[in-house]
Amino acid sequence: MIEKRDFYINGAWVAPAQANDFEVIDPSTEEACAVISLGGKADTDAAVAAAKAALPGWMATPVAERIALVEKLIEIYGKRSEEMAQAMSIEMGAPIDMARSQQVGAGSYHLQNFINAAKAYDFDAPLGDHAPNDRIIHEAVGVAALITPWNWPMNQVTLKVGAAAVAGCTMVLKPSEQSPLNAMLFAEMMDEAGFPKGVFNLVNGDGTGVGSQLTAHPDVDMVSFTGSTRAGTAISKSAAETLKKVHLELGGKGANVIFDDADDKAVKRGVLHMMNNTGQSCNAPSRMLVQKGIYDQAVATAAEVASKVTVGPASESGRHIGPVVNELQWNKIQDLIQKGIDEGAKLVAGGTGRPDGLNKGFYVKPTVFADANNQMVVAREEIFGPVLTMIPFDTEEEAIEIANDTPYGLTNYVQTQDSARANRMARVLRSGMVEINGKSRSAGAPFGGMKQSGNGREGGSWGIEDFLEVKAVGGWT
Ligand code: NAD
Repeated sequence: MIEKRDFYINGAWVAPAQANDFEVIDPSTEEACAVISLGGKADTDAAVAAAKAALPGWMATPVAERIALVEKLIEIYGKRSEEMAQAMSIEMGAPIDMARSQQVGAGSYHLQNFINAAKAYDFDAPLGDHAPNDRIIHEAVGVAALITPWNWPMNQVTLKVGAAAVAGCTMVLKPSEQSPLNAMLFAEMMDEAGFPKGVFNLVNGDGTGVGSQLTAHPDVDMVSFTGSTRAGTAISKSAAETLKKVHLELGGKGANVIFDDADDKAVKRGVLHMMNNTGQSCNAPSRMLVQKGIYDQAVATAAEVASKVTVGPASESGRHIGPVVNELQWNKIQDLIQKGIDEGAKLVAGGTGRPDGLNKGFYVKPTVFADANNQMVVAREEIFGPVLTMIPFDTEEEAIEIANDTPYGLTNYVQTQDSARANRMARVLRSGMVEINGKSRSAGAPFGGMKQSGNGREGGSWGIEDFLEVKAVGGWT
């Protein structure tokens, strides 16, 4: 059992002000794998005070020096990849090979993109030739509270810390209490990289404790949050009291629109994408909209592909999906599958209960519903498990209407060989991201949502800008 009770505050590991143990449960075994502490007000205050004290020095540090520290961080990150992958596999159930390649890999990718973007960014430049005495200075927002979820732990931590660091913000990270081990490894790396004390602080805790304390704290200038729409709403309300800047990356219910002329791998690709990370991705293509000419064949293919997705413990090598993160999620997913059945969606793969032979662990059967309509609960709610909902459509107009009829707006997907139609769809789908024919965004492209999927963008120069204020100076000589 791993015991890691301390917090990283002002460049040192310190014991919590009050003992408040929390057991992290390995979702593959349902056994406790670690004990951490949940912090309280005194810990939050100490971390915020350290970040506030470090702010003037960090803001005054030349951008090139801040970038050099992130470069050092990537080097260390590369050396400690295996530790992170092992930690992820026990704390949130990512299968070990996937944890190594996708989960840990995402972190170095984001950090490198921030370095590239920061090197090219004009932090401090004249307004233009027409206004030689005007200068536009982009400076750090200040002390940033970074609140992250458990589903892609290092992806989210690096997206926030990398951007905040090059922008010149100091920070307090509160990772999800479900996935604290990776975040603590990351804090060790920040320490080893040599970031000045107080620039980066970490306090573990839950949403009602440290999370809420950070969002209400008068010395926190901004909150960068990734998590559920429910918590995002609570955070926005709490931060409104002190008018903090709030960046939100929230849930999704993406449509994957498959036209009759889609390539013959489109359905399989969509099912496997949905099942990746056991369906626990905000940008999962969870509603598959299929045009009627290929609908029956698509349902048969989806059922076959899903029934061949193997499920097993996260410690095992190979291509399979692991458990969902905890008992609460497992129960919620079971309820939603049952609701889908009760509402009359046609179950063509999976269903309630654990997969055969897996009696312990939070395992869910890869599940596909067909013949659903967009008003059913399985088409409206973010299930956050390996559950796909298929909906037939006739025309392009109908597909657009169904795809946009959701409170969410994170990622939508289009599959067609008609490039004019694909581009047309990309313009009218109301989401922060659209992926055509399986092509995801390139390095440095912004990640984020519209509507109730959030505001702001992460990654590359857009991610850095979220941590910057813009100052216009007149009379500069
Ligand atoms: P969650 O909202 O329960 O928790 C996320 C984080 O917020 C945790 O650290 C939690 O302790 C904290 N928190 C919860 N309530 C809080 C409050 N009132 N004040 C302050 N902090 C609070 O979400 P989760 O279950 O950890 O993650 C799953 C959700 O995250 C899904 O809805 C998913 O779609 C979303 N998500 C979004 C993105 C994105 O980029 N849009 C990426 C990954 C996950």
